[in-house]
Amino acid sequence: MTQTLSPNHELAAQLRDSRLKAGLKHWIGGQWVDAQSGQTFEAHSPVDNSLLTTVASGDAADIDRAARAAHDAFQTWKAVSGAERRKILHRIADLIEKRAQEIAVLESVDTGQAIRFMKSAATRGAENFRFYADRAPGAQDGQSLPAPGFINYTLRQPIGPVGVITPWNTPFMLSTWKIAPALAAGCTVVHKPAEWSPVTATLLAEIMDEAGLPKGVHNLVHGFGESAGKALTEHPLIHAIAFVGETTTGSHIMRQGAETLKRVHFELGGKNPVVVFDDADLDKALDAVVFMIYSLNGERCTSSSRVLVQEGIYDEFTARIAERARNIRVGDPLDPETEVGPLVHPRHFDKVMGYFGKAREEGATIAAGGQRVGDSGNYVSPTLFTGARNDMAIAQEEIFGPVLTAIPFTDEAEALALANGVRYGLAGYLWTNDLTRAHRFAQGLEAGMIWVNSENVRHLPTPFGGVKSSGIGRDGGDYSFEFYMETKNIAVSLGTHKTARLGVGQAAPIAKETAEG
Ligand code: NAD
Repeated sequence: MTQTLSPNHELAAQLRDSRLKAGLKHWIGGQWVDAQSGQTFEAHSPVDNSLLTTVASGDAADIDRAARAAHDAFQTWKAVSGAERRKILHRIADLIEKRAQEIAVLESVDTGQAIRFMKSAATRGAENFRFYADRAPGAQDGQSLPAPGFINYTLRQPIGPVGVITPWNTPFMLSTWKIAPALAAGCTVVHKPAEWSPVTATLLAEIMDEAGLPKGVHNLVHGFGESAGKALTEHPLIHAIAFVGETTTGSHIMRQGAETLKRVHFELGGKNPVVVFDDADLDKALDAVVFMIYSLNGERCTSSSRVLVQEGIYDEFTARIAERARNIRVGDPLDPETEVGPLVHPRHFDKVMGYFGKAREEGATIAAGGQRVGDSGNYVSPTLFTGARNDMAIAQEEIFGPVLTAIPFTDEAEALALANGVRYGLAGYLWTNDLTRAHRFAQGLEAGMIWVNSENVRHLPTPFGGVKSSGIGRDGGDYSFEFYMETKNIAVSLGTHKTARLGVGQAAPIAKETAEG
């Protein structure tokens, strides 16, 4: 394990003292407040599982207060011009960039993610705000749909206060991905971050306030999913829930939101295949496969956690992955050299470790890793399972750690059947130099996002989301506005159509257009 000290450690120590010692509060209606119950919970750092801070533990009473604040602020915020919203969102982006190092260090300390990735994650958060800042002035734009005797036009209006519920894997970046389009659309927000990673949500609230976002437009309630999260999904003043997390939690949220008919957008789990044909550029494919499973500790929804390799190149290709996996630097996430940090929480560490035993029981081979690193902490070695079958738990279940399952295939038809033979369908990666096969295969792959001859490279206007058990709906570009806004149609008569006359003593024909709805 690498243990080099860096200036990041000094900054982390200083921030722990100045920012975290006093504990984290909710941010409701423009005020930092304790939980109404006075309850708190502890957040620990996965670096050494030491106490990081105490956090206000929200419940239905805090959510109610935040939902009311968001409801009150909605009347003001929806009336603010797109141009003004654009300015405020750009100011938020400026402040994120200014404080990117602080955000990155706190994110590493809170989640165990390596600092080398967290700096760019913070910067991506700023890009998300800039992207939607520039779209705010056009968010309401609609269509003109002329008909005989009528002008029809559509416009979009913000849906109202929305709930944003985020997970712990890259919490800062993910929350900006939801909150920025919601604010650009004119919605107000109640954010419930994951209980295992509460720190940077607090920073984001602070930044938005400093940027001049009106009080109550963004509210933050910390707490557990079963209490604060559940209350948010059930609150009648909250019109929609944008949720990122596990598939089973998505099912809970759908049930909880049924009574109040919540609109939901779900970004859920994945077991994403990367399919490597023998005609591919294997050096590039190797880099991409290794990056997409071992970066971000493998705690990444779009990680390529199943590698399907054509049989003629299977042994050599998997041997090369194993060699890379053994060379990956596991260690202190604040060390700039570290590639894989500790897993977020001892419970998650136990879950990932459990799959090493399962792989052995199922008869797979552990070609690399498969053990803890060091005597304490949540560190696991980057792992490769070979000799796996698609029906094994290690091929079907989302492990959400630096753990890759390799399966051989003979031809395109088998590759497609294996790739699609899971309940998930978030992302798929395909490596081949056969252009026709690439298109054919991509069309057959059951996934919301497919990259051909590439790792995950996001372009912000493109749709992001999954099929099957990986999600409902799409984010990104204009797709986010479809979720955060209602489309309204306005039909204006040009005065030339005839209205059917009732009560005039004779049967008149009713035009079919007026008989609908
Ligand atoms: P999780 O579902 O356990 O928790 C996510 C959030 O939901 C947390 O804030 C939690 O407090 C809250 N929550 C839990 N129960 C709730 C309930 N009953 N009602 C309301 N809220 C509730 O997920 P996690 O373990 O934090 O995150 C890991 C999961 O997130 C993985 O499955 C991963 O694939 C997924 N993820 C998906 C994407 C994507 O874009 N598809 C991105 C990142 C992570």
